[in-house]
Amino acid sequence: MMAIVYIGLGSNLGDRKKNCLRAIGLLKQNGLSVTRQSSIYETKPWGVTEQPEFVNMAVKAETELAPFQLLALLKKIEKDMGRQETVRWGPRILDLDILLYDDIIMNTETLTIPHPLMQEREFVLRPLSEIAGEKVHPVLKKKIGELLK
Ligand code: AMP
Repeated sequence: MMAIVYIGLGSNLGDRKKNCLRAIGLLKQNGLSVTRQSSIYETKPWGVTEQPEFVNMAVKAETELAPFQLLALLKKIEKDMGRQETVRWGPRILDLDILLYDDIIMNTETLTIPHPLMQEREFVLRPLSEIAGEKVHPVLKKKIGELLK
């Protein structure tokens, strides 16, 4: 079954734009069909503030992967791109998050969909609303574009 997913990308280490674009390339290489891609946004760091600005993007993609399979792929791509485990919310080469997966609602130890913090994070909502402004958040029942306001 083909699912429509929205994935958030972030990087604040190295060539941040290139990291995000490379990750999108790796998503495609691993079988995802990327149908929309947001602009590249630069945003102030969140959490730990003494670090470089983040570059954030969002993509819309079609995939045959189930949610946990997709999460495993995102973690593999993060790892392959050399992300080191550092402090939480610290600098990172690449962060990939499943923001939305069809209209699935799930809450497990290792995977929560929709992404639980997206409505609080402008750096997630801004790129996402560019490509999914009219999409209704399955839990909050509001359009992504409205959540940004
Ligand atoms: P982070 O440090 O932001 O990369 O978060 C890492 C962990 O968040 C991952 O290992 C996942 O198990 C967990 N997680 C929970 N929900 C999600 C989601 N929707 N997308 C990505 N990771 C998630």
